[in-house]
Amino acid sequence: MSKPQSHKARKRFGQNFLHDHGVIRRIVACIAPKKGQRVVEIGPGKGALTEGIISVTERMDVVELDRDLIPILKVNLFRYPDLTVHEADAMKFDFTSLKTDDQLIRVVGNLPYNISTPLIFHLLSHADVIADMHFMLQKEVVDRLAARPGDSLYGRLSVMAQYYCAVESLFIVGPESFDPAPKVDSAIVRMTPYKEAPYSVSDIKKLEDMVRIGFQQRRKTLRNNYKGVLDNDDFSALGIDPSLRPERLDVEDFVNITNYAIQKGI
Ligand code: SAM
Repeated sequence: MSKPQSHKARKRFGQNFLHDHGVIRRIVACIAPKKGQRVVEIGPGKGALTEGIISVTERMDVVELDRDLIPILKVNLFRYPDLTVHEADAMKFDFTSLKTDDQLIRVVGNLPYNISTPLIFHLLSHADVIADMHFMLQKEVVDRLAARPGDSLYGRLSVMAQYYCAVESLFIVGPESFDPAPKVDSAIVRMTPYKEAPYSVSDIKKLEDMVRIGFQQRRKTLRNNYKGVLDNDDFSALGIDPSLRPERLDVEDFVNITNYAIQKGI
């Protein structure tokens, strides 16, 4: 087999390749793959994480956008005939196509940081076919995903992620574990979609709207942010103090606001 060409990391694809084997082992231990499970990796790159997983599951789907990496990946993982490489944009990929009747999919990835937030929103819209997700992200994004009411980073991303999933920040990874080294710390997050939703809305777009409106100015009160949408009577019907700042509301409060707005035709 011919030797693959060396590959210069491409900034536009958010390429920072993991080279720290201790970190790779720790991530795989957190994922704890099992033989036969359906794992899909976003952005396998040259296969740093892929091999630790497919050597256990024996099959895997990977979605990679940079076509120049695919021959390198295939050479590095030539031992695994049941590796299916999708040359595709994960932002447009239909993850539901990978689910089988008896198995939900497990999603993993050291995500391209430039698109990690929209990619997570895309995946959350498929949360019903996903067993769990393990991602390497910028530490700040993990902190936002996992933030609780009252935390300084609690906001739209925290509420939407925690509407669908239990979110756990697992461990921090320093820049030196990557080539090239990013400027900031990274962290591993586990997101497990709820199989039985603790609370639900009938219109997810409405929840997104209500959360966006609520957080439009974090330093302002709910009364201010919801001006023209909810008045004092609405807040008393909801049992929510309108003089609070949005960061004080938990996911259930936003769900209640949304269901109230749907019911009232707001
Ligand atoms: N998993 C490898 C590792 O840990 O060394 C590479 C991680 S690198 C941070 C991100 C990877 O995602 C790159 O391989 C990049 O080409 C790929 N990528 C970037 N944008 C993508 C997209 N929209 N869809 C799928 N893969 C993408």
